[in-house]
Amino acid sequence: MSEEQVKVDAIVVGGGPAGVATALAMAQQKLEVILIERGEYSGAKNMGGLVYGTVLNKLIPDAFKKAPIERPVSRRGIAYLGDGKHIGIDFGSEEWTKPPFNNTYVVNRSQFDRWFAKEAEAAGVSLLEGMVCEDLIYEGEGAAKKAVGVKLRGDEQFRADVVVLAEGSNAIVTKKAVAELGIAKGAHPQEYAIGVKEIIGLPKAKLEDRFHLAADEGVAMDFVGVPFKNLVGGGFIYTAKEAIHVGAVARIQSMVDSKRSPNEMLDAFKKHPIVRSYIHDGELLEYSAHMLPEGGLDAIGELTANGLMIVGDAAGLLNMSLYKEGTNHAMESGMYAAQAAAEAKKSGNFSKAGLASYETKLRQSVVWKDLAKYAKVPEVLNNTPALFSLYPDKFAQLMVDYFTVNEQSKAVIQKQALKKFLAGLPKFQFVRDMLRAKKVF
Ligand SMILES: Cc1cc2nc3c(=O)[nH]c(=O)nc-3n(C[C@H](O)[C@H](O)[C@H](O)COP(=O)(O)OP(=O)(O)OC[C@H]3O[C@@H](n4cnc5c(N)ncnc54)[C@H](O)[C@@H]3O)c2cc1C
Repeated sequence: MSEEQVKVDAIVVGGGPAGVATALAMAQQKLEVILIERGEYSGAKNMGGLVYGTVLNKLIPDAFKKAPIERPVSRRGIAYLGDGKHIGIDFGSEEWTKPPFNNTYVVNRSQFDRWFAKEAEAAGVSLLEGMVCEDLIYEGEGAAKKAVGVKLRGDEQFRADVVVLAEGSNAIVTKKAVAELGIAKGAHPQEYAIGVKEIIGLPKAKLEDRFHLAADEGVAMDFVGVPFKNLVGGGFIYTAKEAIHVGAVARIQSMVDSKRSPNEMLDAFKKHPIVRSYIHDGELLEYSAHMLPEGGLDAIGELTANGLMIVGDAAGLLNMSLYKEGTNHAMESGMYAAQAAAEAKKSGNFSKAGLASYETKLRQSVVWKDLAKYAKVPEVLNNTPALFSLYPDKFAQLMVDYFTVNEQSKAVIQKQALKKFLAGLPKFQFVRDMLRAKKVF
């Protein structure tokens, strides 16, 4: 090691929710830690919409009184989009309109992550933004091989007792580390989705009127259906302060197979009449695209090696069921990684065995329980394409036909509606698909 190389307790690569939570929790435990973020600032390259408060509040008490929140979510909605029709449920609670707002908030990630990273810096983390980690420094051979630091673009190097990889889903350094340190991969290969999102500006009063919201309340809506035909995907709309977040996510493999592009998918979603009714007259403020790891529990490999831990999306911890939870899983994994690093510092043992409590705590946590509950979701989504367009279209059509007003009697209208619904729907397939769909909820 050259004289001028900096050596600290820990280096965290990636300033998203996982990396910032790790670095902040480490600093709170008096570890000397460097956090490296390649964006001009944390969040500059991030997207996503909802942030859940339960884990964040453990790191920063009453975080949401200080964090840059767009709107708390007081109402939610789930809708099936048919061809020019829709059927949906809209639900909420008065309870959700009051603190802590069901711990669910719409944020602008570029502002939220930036704030979160500054909180970590205030707690003592050395925050290095605009720097790309290109690889790790390794020492030793075979089973004794360990990570001992990072190489940054431009030849700068830092050393540490432990490196935590929090790169998110496009985890290039993590992939190299898995190969270098012989880290065991998951039972199934990781599967990726791509998300595209627009932020569409709309004046506050107009937005609240359009979504039937009281001042500063918010709504989050999820959609599947015809715009996602031949894709394993869906869309969402979240209300921000003076903007609407409208986005679509789909498995990359399904896009390749159906020769559809992310832009075309988002356009088809935005053109659906019910979606159009929410976003019309808005001004496009921002466009972003991001990958998500959707392989679930079976795609998660080992998360520790000598001198190394992997957290957040880089570890594949996203829950892609109906709940779509990634940020709080990322933060929670970061908290356990920080605890493991603090214990390793006490014992002076940063080997895989010395860091093992990270995986032990994670496997005992709610994060793991939820991932286990939804372990079959990736398989269900891949093998049940009818869930994404045929059934949404059928159900929307059924309701439209059921409530059709014409000169026929209700008995005739209902009989015809049911007949149309069942046409072309093999009974066995329908029952099987509905049973499979239960696993997503
Ligand atoms: C369209 C979409 C919608 C979503 N909606 C939700 C939602 O509603 N609720 C929810 O909980 N989750 C949602 N998610 C998932 C959520 O965004 C992720 O699970 C979460 O951001 C994971 O955090 P992370 O810190 O692991 O990774 P990221 O947030 O991706 O952060 C990784 C960071 O590392 C940096 N980085 C990467 N490589 C390097 C490197 N080599 N050197 C330096 N820096 C590096 C990146 O710039 C980035 O800032 C959504 C995701 C998408 C794409």
